[in-house]
Amino acid sequence: MQIAARKVVSLHYTLRGEEGDLIDQATPEEPFFYIHGVGNIIPGLEKALDGKSAGDKLSVSIPPEDAYGLHDKEQVQIAPRSAFYGVTDIKPGMQFQAETESGHYQLVTVQAVDGDQVILDSNHPLAGQTLNFDVEVVSIRDASAEELDHGHVHGPEGHHH
Ligand code: ZN
Repeated sequence: MQIAARKVVSLHYTLRGEEGDLIDQATPEEPFFYIHGVGNIIPGLEKALDGKSAGDKLSVSIPPEDAYGLHDKEQVQIAPRSAFYGVTDIKPGMQFQAETESGHYQLVTVQAVDGDQVILDSNHPLAGQTLNFDVEVVSIRDASAEELDHGHVHGPEGHHH
């Protein structure tokens, strides 16, 4: 069986940043499961895995455009310190859930604190980064109708309802 749309795929992988720093990994003990072709993973990795079989190994370098996007300066904003009621010590690197105008929640990272002003970055933490994956395909199976309906993997390795 080959990786194609609507297949449930499990992977071992190591993800490193541009400097070779370890960002994330899925070990043989805890492989990562996803449904191919439905946007569960970044487009560049999905493209690289298309047509692969169980046991295949690949190393891919994915530019930001095919990963979490370029860093968008428009998404760096200044908020007054008073917006963080209850937080006394705001430091660069801290992350908060902020409510957007459309009522969704978005992760924002404190980039800097300047007096009464807090500079917030709501880009994805990996935006602007080239991502280097070492991947091994572990298993491939058909997704169930219910999994396709929900858009995520069920079973011991996935969601329980
Ligand atoms: Zn579900």
